[in-house]
Amino acid sequence: MHYEGNIIRPPSEANSILLQVSVGCSRNKCTFCGTYQGERFRIKSDATIMADIDFAAHHCRRQRRVFLCDGDVLVIPQRRLLAILEAINQKLPWVTRVGTYANAKSIAMKSAQELEALRKIKLGIAYMGLESGDDVTLKAINKGATAKTMIAMGRKLRAAGIKLSVTVLLGIAGPERSAVHARETGRVLSAIDPEYVGALSLMLIPGTALERDHRRGDFELIGPKTMLRELREMIAATDLTRGLFHANHASNYLPIKVRLPRDKTATLALIDEALAGSVSLKPEFLRAL
Ligand code: SF4
Repeated sequence: MHYEGNIIRPPSEANSILLQVSVGCSRNKCTFCGTYQGERFRIKSDATIMADIDFAAHHCRRQRRVFLCDGDVLVIPQRRLLAILEAINQKLPWVTRVGTYANAKSIAMKSAQELEALRKIKLGIAYMGLESGDDVTLKAINKGATAKTMIAMGRKLRAAGIKLSVTVLLGIAGPERSAVHARETGRVLSAIDPEYVGALSLMLIPGTALERDHRRGDFELIGPKTMLRELREMIAATDLTRGLFHANHASNYLPIKVRLPRDKTATLALIDEALAGSVSLKPEFLRAL
């Protein structure tokens, strides 16, 4: 397989065939994100992509899922993206689901009919970084979308029958807006009502604008207890029809993997116990991105 630069994928795509169809992220401006630093966004050539699909057809016969890398594959023009999915469908008929990252801007570029056409040809899940439902925070981190747009784009994907996994970032609002960030993020998650929510805890990446702000004293990183209070407030404010809420990423202090609304009360009680010191938190040296 032909890979360029930094290849990342969601934890749940660990066993998927990683097919890199673009390099980098077309936005590449979020202040906390160091994933594609210095990388110019480009779509790989059809010849390279098709050669990788041929390679997977011979060597990846046990993998049932494909994840399309990198940052926001939905910006690829519809005709080209359909051709890629059709080739996957034809040459890897054992694949049951294709996944991709998606951001609000790239979702906006596709019509409802175009998204449905992609879903019909096995685009089954998209992973969207919401980070925060608080507009002040979204602006501060240069996310490029408001909470209202995030809700509309998340709903648009779901209406097309594409499953949605939304990532939020604990700590991204700093100490002053921590509670607002938690409540607003819960409100936006409830409005989108995705199948999956993943809460990560902010870790500063060297070379990012946010890390520079931190070194200058312009951004304060909240500690484990405030992070937990934020998570508690967020879960309390989140009403999902039947979604999984994960905060079990390696960056998190207290691993949580629950279904909402079923496990809400028990989860809030567990966090209260952790805040009271009767459940131990992950030590700093074991946290990772
Ligand atoms: S957070 Fe997502 S949209 Fe923002 S720069 Fe990183 S990859 Fe691109």
